Amino acid sequence: VELSGMAGSSLAEKHFRFVVVGGGISGVTCAEQLAFQFPKEEVALLTAAPLVKTVTNLRQVSKTLEDFDVEEQPSSILEEKYPNLKVIHSAVRVLHAKQHVLQTEDGHNVHYEKLCVCTGARPKLVIEENPHVLGIRDTDSAQDFQKKLSKARRMIVIGNGGIALELVYEVEGCEVIWVIKDKAIGNTFFDAGAAQFLIPSLEVEKPEKLLPCKRTHYTTDRAAKPKAGSADLGSALGPDWHQDISLRGAEEVSHNVHVEYECEMEAIHSQQDFMQSPLYTQKTDLGVWPVYAQLTNGKVYGCDFIVSATGVVPNSEPFLQGNSFELAEDRGLRVDEHMRTSEPDVYAAGDVCSAGWEPSPLWQQMRLWTQARQMGFYAARCIAAHVLEEAIELDFCFELFSHITKFFNYKVVLLGKFNAQGLGSDHELLVRCTKGLEYVKVVLSRGRMVGAVLIGDTDLEETFENLILNQMDLSSYGEELLNPDIDIEDYFD
Ligand code: FAD
Repeated sequence: VELSGMAGSSLAEKHFRFVVVGGGISGVTCAEQLAFQFPKEEVALLTAAPLVKTVTNLRQVSKTLEDFDVEEQPSSILEEKYPNLKVIHSAVRVLHAKQHVLQTEDGHNVHYEKLCVCTGARPKLVIEENPHVLGIRDTDSAQDFQKKLSKARRMIVIGNGGIALELVYEVEGCEVIWVIKDKAIGNTFFDAGAAQFLIPSLEVEKPEKLLPCKRTHYTTDRAAKPKAGSADLGSALGPDWHQDISLRGAEEVSHNVHVEYECEMEAIHSQQDFMQSPLYTQKTDLGVWPVYAQLTNGKVYGCDFIVSATGVVPNSEPFLQGNSFELAEDRGLRVDEHMRTSEPDVYAAGDVCSAGWEPSPLWQQMRLWTQARQMGFYAARCIAAHVLEEAIELDFCFELFSHITKFFNYKVVLLGKFNAQGLGSDHELLVRCTKGLEYVKVVLSRGRMVGAVLIGDTDLEETFENLILNQMDLSSYGEELLNPDIDIEDYFD
């Protein structure tokens, strides 16, 4: 094969039947499953990071809810487990999809019969390449954040998703100005009612670490450092990323969070620029700070640094040039119901892909840990089915959206259209709330349960999951559905 820009013979050519790119949860799950299903074939896992993520202690909490631990491990552990799995530590520079060849940063040509792209996503920063603005993605960026925080008196957090929620709650000893464009906190995950329930947690002292909470856990091996040049390509941190690092600022306070609702970042000024701008003369009481943020509501805050937690952008770039991938609006590689991209023999899974199939009415894609695992696993099964010319149906896990996590020290379970996504006015809500204890919200559409938010130890997840999956007509139960005096589990058994 003649490949443009390469001196063919001087490059090492490697051939594998199956190649997976990315050592995060989706890539590792996909490569493991392929190696398991095809013990006589060689599977290559190409990754930019020195460590790979592996899933351990997978527990099925209910039909669709799953919980697992995640460990960052040296790749040798994978290779020992699957002798036919080879891990190659090098970033992919370019893909020649027609020729079925990948070119790595260190000059190898890797040929494949089937390829699965699992390169994850990176934080979307409000401003790129500003030393005062950082995103949190991987172990390195979390450490950078921790270092800055340890000397900080005030930080600004922009964004209203899961990472922002965790940050504002976990950080102590540093004032937090939390800038959100919505009317309520956490709107990616829940509504204004749930936000009201959670807000008081920001105003009280944080409890000492409570009982171990059932949720994904992740550990890192601090001994391993990334290769030079690959520092910006680490795997996404997962749940509990802050567990092993101290999130303390320079002050002796617990929480000190101030929320600026319904506004965005207008401009960011360095100290020097700000002192020379007309704003400085108008707002003389702002104090001296390394950086100043001007918000769209007209306010200006000085701070030590800014965390941008405003979502992610799929890492699809290295694969695009010269190929004709169909991209979704969010720049994810669009995949069909068999995880195939629009280029023959190229599949994608996890944060880098965008689900392009007609989804079940109760499922939506969210770039989360569990979906990365499910997609990686399913992509491997699809590849196998295609190679073996067998039929395969969309996995059951894509029937119902389900997510289990922890916010503000409460267990949080989200099911189906938990925020009435896409339902317009065609729905009603039932809510039960006991301050400080639990918040239960059910979304009903034409008498059937289509989603739920469960905060606290409600123990309702299995029953509600069943009610959502079987689409039973609940019209006759009305508000009784959430009556705390009725044991709903017995009721519907
Ligand atoms: P990643 O884990 O990002 O892995 C991508 C892999 O591709 C990496 O190994 C990388 O090195 C490699 N790579 C990238 N580019 C190249 C290239 N050109 N060549 C070769 N290799 C490449 N999800 C939850 O469900 N719950 C949470 O509480 C939660 N908290 C989070 C907190 C933080 C701070 C962050 C950043 C994310 C969080 N997420 C959470 C999201 C979750 O971590 C991701 O959805 C998940 O890790 C995606 O897995 P992935 O395998 O698709 O991608």
